[in-house]
Amino acid sequence: MTIPFDVKSIRTGSVADDGADALSIIPGWSIALAILVFAAAQYLFHGVLPHQKHEMLPMRLLMGYSWGTAFASYVLLIGYVSRDVKRRNMSAGLWMLIVIVMPGGIGAVVYFLLRQPILSRCPHCTTEIASSYHFCPQCQFQMAPVCGKCFRGVRITDVYCTQCGHDLAEDHAPARLRAYSD
Ligand SMILES: [Zn+2]
Ligand SMILES: [Zn+2]
Repeated sequence: MTIPFDVKSIRTGSVADDGADALSIIPGWSIALAILVFAAAQYLFHGVLPHQKHEMLPMRLLMGYSWGTAFASYVLLIGYVSRDVKRRNMSAGLWMLIVIVMPGGIGAVVYFLLRQPILSRCPHCTTEIASSYHFCPQCQFQMAPVCGKCFRGVRITDVYCTQCGHDLAEDHAPARLRAYSD
């Protein structure tokens, strides 16, 4: 089965996801709301709360700034999670609720511990697949080098399968799987 398609471009896209574009997926409404929340915190500390005579201005500025930053970060985090759940095929409503309701950012910690791997799409039939898959479950498109006898994952530089000793040269693996081996 030969499919004229460059898997390399799709791979690099999905692998870079976790770090590089983590910030770029934060939605616009979340950024706008964060700015609003920060401004509201300043107003609360400088406009609403009663001024005491002995209180120092630097302290008031510092409190307004730190609380404003904390709440604004929280809003950005919620925005990030709202987008991140979708590309991992997780329940958006449930996880948004957990992140918002659990106090002190604990919900977010639980989310980052339990979140599923990012899904990418099969280059051949566009089925959603996890990065750990060796073959597409719908069209059998081969995503990663495997042993032709025991079908466990192998490195493309291996000459023999590390699990069953099978001679990998006999498999005639598709050339595209060698393109991104190093
Ligand atoms: Zn497929
Ligand atoms: Zn094997």
